[in-house]
Amino acid sequence: MSPHRLDFALPRFARCCWASEPARLRWQPTVVRLAERTREMEWRSVAAGLRAVAILDAAPGEASTLRQAATEAGLVLRHLSPRPGVLPGFQNPVIIGHADTWLSAIHAWETDDAAAALAALGAAPCCASAQAERLQAGWRDTTFPAMQGDDGPAGPNRLAAPLGLYALPFSPCGPGCAAAARLADDWLAMGRALGWREDFETLETLLDWPMGYSALHGIAELRTPVFKLTSNTDATADKLALRRAGRTFPEDAGSGLGFPYVPPARRRVTGTAAWQRGLDNPLDQDGRS
Ligand SMILES: [Zn+2]
Repeated sequence: MSPHRLDFALPRFARCCWASEPARLRWQPTVVRLAERTREMEWRSVAAGLRAVAILDAAPGEASTLRQAATEAGLVLRHLSPRPGVLPGFQNPVIIGHADTWLSAIHAWETDDAAAALAALGAAPCCASAQAERLQAGWRDTTFPAMQGDDGPAGPNRLAAPLGLYALPFSPCGPGCAAAARLADDWLAMGRALGWREDFETLETLLDWPMGYSALHGIAELRTPVFKLTSNTDATADKLALRRAGRTFPEDAGSGLGFPYVPPARRRVTGTAAWQRGLDNPLDQDGRS
């Protein structure tokens, strides 16, 4: 699908609005902490060999902190010039990797070879080529085309990525991509192994909440049971909308009527995604996955 595009782009923003005061008190500190952990996972996943490089849009003053962390992990950091054809919207991109292996990633970046750059970021060929095609088709925010379709597992869900909440550092070819789900599982397992078990179980659970997404005139709105996130996106004349039914539901949800504020009777209210996995794999009860 190729929506009718409007000729403007809003500046980058992401604004979170809480469904209720109890929801804010319960979830705001968690969301902030999860976003910090996720940010750290970007370079830690490279240090651990999960993927070749990380490319981040460094906030003002962040590059020196990132450089120090990368150096301590045996990695190097280099500034890149913005490449809207590869990672649109990145204003101050930095690459973090191993100096002896990142040359092909830098070459891909500098020649606008989006598929090769995404492969270096950990994307399987299906996800890398799908994303390159979307960029070619004019998408800058690829959330909507990447998340269309059936729910798929929690890991590849990128709907809350503007808030720093994700377990997959790029858009998958689709929400049900098995390769993307494997990398997301590795990402979550690594976070748990780093000593952040509870946080990364919470992240996985959160990514499996019911979510409603819509985009119109350059503003995306994501509704979850505890927050509404508005952020900039591609300016389209037509409303784009999708829904993720989800498999978990948070405590302290807002009290709105209907989706996504009311848990269906068959959804476990406080269930964690790990608990759900146990249900999905009843023969594997000893903790292996
Ligand atoms: Zn894929």
